[in-house]
Amino acid sequence: MARLRDRVSETAESRGELVLYKLDRPTEVTCARCAGRSTTRWIAVLADDWTRLWCKACFLAMPASNRAQPG
Ligand SMILES: [Zn+2]
Repeated sequence: MARLRDRVSETAESRGELVLYKLDRPTEVTCARCAGRSTTRWIAVLADDWTRLWCKACFLAMPASNRAQPG
C-alpha cells in the first residue's frame, strides 16, 4: 500500500483525535467506519492510525466538540 502519510498536501481540520487530510491526488480508500469505498483526495485518520482510514462523510458526522473521555 502506498504511504499515504507522505502524500498529504494539507491538514484541513481536526476534531479531537480525528484529523482530516487532503492528499496530493485522488486515491481509492475504504472507510474503516462505514466500509464505503471511494476515490477521493480527502481522508481522515483517527489517533494517527494510518491503517484505518475514515471517509470525509464520517469525519463530518463526528461532533466538532468530540473529546476523548477519561477511562
Ligand atoms: Zn465512512
